[in-house]
Amino acid sequence: MKLATLHDLYVDELKDLYSAEHQILKALPKMAKTATAPQLAKAFTSHLEETKGHVERLEKIFKKLGASPKGKTCKAMEGLLEEGKEVIEEDADPAVKDAALIAAGQRVEHYEMAGYGCVRTFAQLLGYDDAAELLQQTLDEEGAADEKLTRLAETVINVEAVAPAGGK
Ligand code: FE
Ligand code: FE
Ligand code: ZN
Repeated sequence: MKLATLHDLYVDELKDLYSAEHQILKALPKMAKTATAPQLAKAFTSHLEETKGHVERLEKIFKKLGASPKGKTCKAMEGLLEEGKEVIEEDADPAVKDAALIAAGQRVEHYEMAGYGCVRTFAQLLGYDDAAELLQQTLDEEGAADEKLTRLAETVINVEAVAPAGGK
């Protein structure tokens, strides 16, 4: 039985997040490059830096567990980023494309928030207090990144997308 205990599930889900974070590391520079609004490009770039920290926290947790973080591919993140890629390659008005990039980015953040919320709770239940603390820090940063995207959408991006500068 592969998942005999909650500990097994905990490790399995951490591996899924490790794979997801690596995929995000590769995708964020492309999203930043595609964004037209400077604030949006900056939001993606600063989340790229945070994401490097998320990977480091996971590596720290795995080291303490004496386990390898590798060996799993997050298929959901592959799918989410594949959809994001479709948006990037689409011929679209710049403001509308920025709105689409935010929509794609928020899907990614929500997936991560769900994942980190689960492993944080598992860590608490299993008595891994240090890991729970690290996972909570990452969860907070994912939440803040999501909120930043919401703010950008509500204050600038979506507003511009309603009446594109091209004025069609
Ligand atoms: Fe992350
Ligand atoms: Fe996954
Ligand atoms: Zn994230």
